[in-house]
Amino acid sequence: MINRRSFLKSTAASLPFATLPAMAAPLSAEPAATSASLPLLAELPQRQPTSQTAGQPWQARVRRVGQTNMTEHDPAVMDVEAWADFWHQAGADVVFISVTGILAYYPSKVPFHRHGRFLNGQDFFGKCAEAARKRGMRIVARMSPDLNWPDALTAHPEWAMRNRDGSVEHNGEDPRLFRTCMFSTYMDDYVPAIMREVNDLYQPDCFYTNGWPPLGSMPECYCSVCSKLPPSGTPAYWHAFNERFFDLWSRYDAIARERKPDGFYFANLGGNVHAGPNLARLGKVAAWFQGDNQGRTNDDPAAWGATLQGRVCNAIRNGSFATNINAAYSTGLVRWRNASKNPAESLLWMSETLAAGLVPYDHFIGAESGLGEDHRWMSVGEEFFRWTQRHDAHLHNRRTLANVGVVIGQSTQVLYKGPATATGNSYMRETVHGLYELLLTGRFAFDFVHEDRLDLDQLRSYRVLILANIALLTSQQCQQLRDYVAAGGSLLASFETGLYDGDLQRRADSPLADLFGTAVAGDAIGTNGNACYARIERQHPVLQGFRDTHWLPGAQNRIPLRPIAEPVLTIVPGFVQYPPELAYPDPATAHTNQPALALQDHGRARCAYFAGDIERTYWLTGHGDLQRLYHNTLRWLTEDEAFVSVQGDGLLEFFAWETELGYSLHMLNYTNPNAFHGWMQATYPLGAQQIAMRLPAGVRATAVKLLRAETEVTFHQQDQLLQFTVPGLQQYEVASIVIA
Ligand SMILES: [Zn+2]
Repeated sequence: MINRRSFLKSTAASLPFATLPAMAAPLSAEPAATSASLPLLAELPQRQPTSQTAGQPWQARVRRVGQTNMTEHDPAVMDVEAWADFWHQAGADVVFISVTGILAYYPSKVPFHRHGRFLNGQDFFGKCAEAARKRGMRIVARMSPDLNWPDALTAHPEWAMRNRDGSVEHNGEDPRLFRTCMFSTYMDDYVPAIMREVNDLYQPDCFYTNGWPPLGSMPECYCSVCSKLPPSGTPAYWHAFNERFFDLWSRYDAIARERKPDGFYFANLGGNVHAGPNLARLGKVAAWFQGDNQGRTNDDPAAWGATLQGRVCNAIRNGSFATNINAAYSTGLVRWRNASKNPAESLLWMSETLAAGLVPYDHFIGAESGLGEDHRWMSVGEEFFRWTQRHDAHLHNRRTLANVGVVIGQSTQVLYKGPATATGNSYMRETVHGLYELLLTGRFAFDFVHEDRLDLDQLRSYRVLILANIALLTSQQCQQLRDYVAAGGSLLASFETGLYDGDLQRRADSPLADLFGTAVAGDAIGTNGNACYARIERQHPVLQGFRDTHWLPGAQNRIPLRPIAEPVLTIVPGFVQYPPELAYPDPATAHTNQPALALQDHGRARCAYFAGDIERTYWLTGHGDLQRLYHNTLRWLTEDEAFVSVQGDGLLEFFAWETELGYSLHMLNYTNPNAFHGWMQATYPLGAQQIAMRLPAGVRATAVKLLRAETEVTFHQQDQLLQFTVPGLQQYEVASIVIA
């Protein structure tokens, strides 16, 4: 009899290259995630001083936001008192009321601000504002500067966005409406005229524009102004877009303050990491970050859409106010904008928003449908809002507690389309989702970090920074990353990271290459048939749990590297996968000395570089070997340190916060057949989760409350180590750790 191992050895002996090394001895039966012993825990940072509530802007006290997004018909059919009653008794602190710009909801005198068909001279905005204010709710004046009507076009042809052939761009659904250009005088003259008129009449608390800027993409316009700009999609265009955007923002903000010193302007922002406006600049000017990420999309199909948006907000705001919108109506490729969404999905979206540290915001279109024809959504949002009201004291966060930093390469997201070998236009979206799933399945506590905020002070709490194919890095950013490593921080990078400068010019090699001990040997290589493999060359902790194989799956695309000494994993180049007769590597070239993974140990700082696009390949395949290798590598880089450990079964996302009362751990259960497609239809409860965290010296827990279950659990604290078990969770649970 011949067993599988001896078969491989005898086969190898007949091959012209050196015999295979001894199999990597098993380091343990299973990777650390499922072992009984807890990983080594780093101590939580010292608590921040008590927040000063005095002097905070009014929006900092807003805990719930409500919006019935008004239709043209609403002035005729909406019961204003019932509308205000609903949001007030649901606990909303602020409501949106439509001014618009497409249709006036008040007797506007601004030319081309068309009165709605059913306005009939009413002051609908004024009635709504009065009803909200007498119930103690603040009001946001909502505008839409993105569309207008034929009479405006006739008088101001320069306001329109133009196609390449010079024709006017119209709204795809109602072709009477033309699309306005953000570089035109429409934004300089028309929008400010409405703002000033509304300011004079109503003095709203703040102004908001819907429909602009575009979410997750750049405008493409060929009007007389835009024709003089660099082509859309280029670094120079992105620069021009940002200059125009922030100039308009500051002018609108100044108008919003003309009648109210604590007023401000804000716009719909979203697109998560693919946002158009520079996020780091936004973080400095946005008094209200409006995450307009209302539901799952085809491009972002995973359950974690609202937390992804929340993490982006957290990366760029310094405690400023932020919301994420829940569409209580049906979002998606097939859309029913006036029908309620599945309650489980709606609840999940609002739970994610709260878990990520943002303020929940519920939203439905039109009073006619939303307060009348289909009002199933109302009790869903109301129940959640009221629950947040009951436990509000536990929900005031100070800062996240995460020791893994994920660099958002916004310029890469906006400007880089993927390697020449890749197809499709979702390359970086897939990269982000692959990384996100890897971090969730590994139960890592992580924050996003913006590429323009890499100074050492921003990075001190992170044991490791992840650069998941962050192709564009400026020289300054590379120097900041080097400073981080010099200070003892670890890096994990992959694929084309650093191979382009900030202007999308290809470099010969990454300025970070020496940190990883690598040198680029050519352009990206893709897959034609069998993807490449990674061959195990020697034992290493990153290979923990791999047994009975020399080959691991590689990545779909890779950067060829020059040989390195004593690689852990080498590249086996891809070969034919069909026909199976030819599905074997060329014996002359199969055993290379090109690294698939390069590891460097600089003392406390460790660096790991994957030559392939491992995060995206994982997203496309879900291969467990890629997951194990990535988790092991992150644990090696962090020396298995974590502020918080959450162990148990299930696909779960968690956020750990330092709160006003102590600490909190928000857990979201994505273990569901609809985690990656469509909407949640039901909840599949999870079993026990074991929690451990090492509190700062002198801090003593006095209670652990489960806010969703509305119960307490016993806990054990020995010296600084706090441990407790959450016996199970439905869709969402918040463990609030109250301290003495
Ligand atoms: Zn234009």
